[in-house]
Amino acid sequence: MTARLHHLRSSYHSLGIDAFLVSFPPHVRYMTGFSGSNGIALVTESSQSLITDGRYVEQSRKEVKGWKIFITQESLYEELRLNRLLHPGMRVGIDGNTFVLSQFRQLKKTLPKVKFLPRVDVIEKIAVVKDEEEIRKIRKAVAITDKVFGEILPLLKPGIAESDIAAEISFRQRTHGADGDAFETIVASGERGAMPHGQASAKKIRNHELVTLDFGSVAEGYHSDLTRTVAVGKPPAEAKKIYTVVLDAQCRAIDAAVSGIKAKDLDGVARDHIKASGYDKFFRHSLGHGLGLQIHEPPRISFLSKAVLASGNVVTIEPGIYLPGFGGVRIEDDVIIRDDHCEVLNRSTKKFITL
Ligand code: ZN
Ligand code: ZN
Repeated sequence: MTARLHHLRSSYHSLGIDAFLVSFPPHVRYMTGFSGSNGIALVTESSQSLITDGRYVEQSRKEVKGWKIFITQESLYEELRLNRLLHPGMRVGIDGNTFVLSQFRQLKKTLPKVKFLPRVDVIEKIAVVKDEEEIRKIRKAVAITDKVFGEILPLLKPGIAESDIAAEISFRQRTHGADGDAFETIVASGERGAMPHGQASAKKIRNHELVTLDFGSVAEGYHSDLTRTVAVGKPPAEAKKIYTVVLDAQCRAIDAAVSGIKAKDLDGVARDHIKASGYDKFFRHSLGHGLGLQIHEPPRISFLSKAVLASGNVVTIEPGIYLPGFGGVRIEDDVIIRDDHCEVLNRSTKKFITL
């Protein structure tokens, strides 16, 4: 946490601020360790304070070390004012991506003489390189998800509803030690597989269909994200064909994913392969995203991204092909970027499975 504070303070000069007010819960957790739902953290040049409410007296003491903790009966902003933590004329950065307008107004009303300045990706720029402790937590989340994928396969049979599979995934991830699901589980069978984000519906899985499962868990706050497409009963011939194209695209991207590559070039490695196979019109999302305390965080791996991958980034690599009226295939792994290679965290098989 000390390194994170140092990193944040060293950005103040170029951001034109004297302090930063951390308000978005995943950012508060990243900076302080506090995992409660109501808290703000103020980092000035010389002090760091966490403000939360009476529900979190014990929890904040347990989770947060090296910070001054204020427990308030009032609003969090009022506590800033009462304790004179900010001074007239101070320039205080706030997160321009997540700060809610009504709260911004409230903040300005409570402290009218302080200048609050929206700044974007301040915490994200620090959090984009994971330390070993964070990687340990991500590995734990990934292992839970891989384990559940193996357990779910025998349940995928004609007649079972997508939503029942999603419920099983959720139950089993918790049983294996997850804090919860990383996001709403996607189970998309048959034609529904053509929707990249087809959340589990009441539809029943039928024989000869492809089924795409996209799910993840949260462990100690950190996320995992896995996608596999499998066939239930022998699928149409084109299914195997597009599966091979997607798998080759994913493996090529994994081989190219090293420190120093531009995110847009990495996206291009997978996209060019899919294009050469004639399916480029049917791969309409970006190749991947960073993950950590949030399920989607920088670096974005898309053709529009300006990011350059660095050692310690943890990202997903997830190309797909979606044929309207037919179905879809997506294969997604979580990887750690290293100096000369990337480490694939998932162990779930990528062989084409027909159940
Ligand atoms: Zn996913
Ligand atoms: Zn993903």
